[in-house]
Amino acid sequence: MLSDIEIAQQSKLSSITKIAEKLGISSESIELFGNDKAKVSLKEEDKASLGKLILVTSINPTPAGEGKTTVSIGLADRLNQLHKNAVLALREPSLGPVMGLKGGATGGGYSQVLPMEDINLHFTGDIHAITTANNALSAFIDNHIHQGNELGIDPQQIIWKRSLDLNDRALRNTLVGLGNKAQGVPRQEGFDITVASEIMAVLCLASDLSDLKARLARIVIGYTYQKEPVTVQDLQVEGALALLLKEAMKPNLVQTIEQTPAFIHGGPFANIAHGCNSVVATKTALRLGDYVVTEAGFGADLGAEKFLDIKVTNLEKSPDVVVMVATVRALKMHGGVAVDQLDKENLPALEKGFANLKKHIQNMQSFGLPVVVAINEFAFDQESELSLLQTLCQEIEVNALRSSTWANGGMGAKELASTVVDTIADKKAKYRPLYQNQLPVEDKIKKIARNIYGAKNVFFEKNARKQLEDIKTLGWDQLPVCIAKTQYSLSDDASLLGVPKDFDLTVREISPKIGAGFLVVLTGNVLTMPGLPKRPAALDMDVDEKGNASGLF
Ligand code: ADP
Ligand code: MG
Repeated sequence: MLSDIEIAQQSKLSSITKIAEKLGISSESIELFGNDKAKVSLKEEDKASLGKLILVTSINPTPAGEGKTTVSIGLADRLNQLHKNAVLALREPSLGPVMGLKGGATGGGYSQVLPMEDINLHFTGDIHAITTANNALSAFIDNHIHQGNELGIDPQQIIWKRSLDLNDRALRNTLVGLGNKAQGVPRQEGFDITVASEIMAVLCLASDLSDLKARLARIVIGYTYQKEPVTVQDLQVEGALALLLKEAMKPNLVQTIEQTPAFIHGGPFANIAHGCNSVVATKTALRLGDYVVTEAGFGADLGAEKFLDIKVTNLEKSPDVVVMVATVRALKMHGGVAVDQLDKENLPALEKGFANLKKHIQNMQSFGLPVVVAINEFAFDQESELSLLQTLCQEIEVNALRSSTWANGGMGAKELASTVVDTIADKKAKYRPLYQNQLPVEDKIKKIARNIYGAKNVFFEKNARKQLEDIKTLGWDQLPVCIAKTQYSLSDDASLLGVPKDFDLTVREISPKIGAGFLVVLTGNVLTMPGLPKRPAALDMDVDEKGNASGLF
């Protein structure tokens, strides 16, 4: 069996100019990065009617991921085999997971976006630009304090952290400004992974450069000795930050193994941020394609809920259908099977674990959206299990199709693609958000916790209660909420699988992201700078004397 990178290296790429031409992008709207990557910035006169939006999400996954990206890519490929003019809009991988445990985010098997080496490494430099803008802001803050601190920033209350796009636990807590007076003011500091930076979220939600600048200006970096918020605008550096990001704002165009156009742009975390590719990329794809396949990170309780309550407002377009990816192995895990037994047939466990899928389906239906289930087939899945899962879905009147896009590319999504097209044509989506932003923050959190997670109640720790009051005083209470919790469970406890009952969601902290335009609600222990595992994926990576990469997946 060939590895992902071997399959990728054997694939024949079309020139990106040809892909752009087929999409109807004018030569003035495209900037080339070699032969196989380009940045696209559509002009007013470029095609403007919006295509249909297909949102791909999943059940609560196993640590390996359940195949949302792999299914998205194969689905778009099949739509194009049917001449449906499909375009992908996906997140850009972060080097943290690439070098760490999970690997890249370019799909797998015969459903991949290419060139996978570039996309998984430095790509067109957008993440580096975000890192630089993030750290430029840190430098401006420390310099402001060093030069006399006119704004009266309290060094103990700076919430802006430096960032780096790697998993590096040693940088979680650090000290800066050590040495004599000329080396700045000493203070405690910490690093976040770049994809957790508010700048990443800002870039992904901004509609254009002026919106980007306005959002950057609103970022709160900390508080004064009088506890007044200090913004980027107070420091007068929103112009410089926007300048550093001007190229990174343009979406990147690449292609799949089957030469389907794919926009890959932006990659915010799906816990402390909203977890999907940029608004600009999705909009560009919607203007160019008749069908756009896009993915929301983690399970539907996190990524899809945020897509529907946060991104849709900025996108001004809601999904026409939701594709819910499920795997037999993850459902068996939700049914109580141990990780090392998942490759063995177990129908009772599958039936029990189906409850997790059912809850996610009902959640998406509660937004007024039609749902199609994609069963991502693995080599060890049994016929009996696959057909039981289809029957269970039929019983709740949801179409469930087998998808073998990993093994077969677009052909693996034959029935899935036809069903998706028919569903869009036959079942009109009637999108409604879960909550109105005018609701008190507490109520917004409770709505998500009860309706989506199935919690009994929400418990606010003392610190979070105080923050709720401050948020109200400062007038930030009309913002949507972005809940950070484990992706492995519907609850805030990773060990509770299936459909946990009678649990309370515990809110530890509420952190304002005024530039991004949401309040991050922290439950459990969410790391914003991950660590590397005992055996990082990096140990298998290499490059030969000709520059050929190996070991990426
Ligand atoms: P997600 O987007 O949900 O995180 P991915 O599509 O990135 O998931 O898949 C996670 C990993 O699992 C990838 O390495 C991918 O190649 C692999 N994978 C996905 N589907 C299959 C499958 N059906 N069989 C084998 N491996 C798969
Ligand atoms: Mg993915």
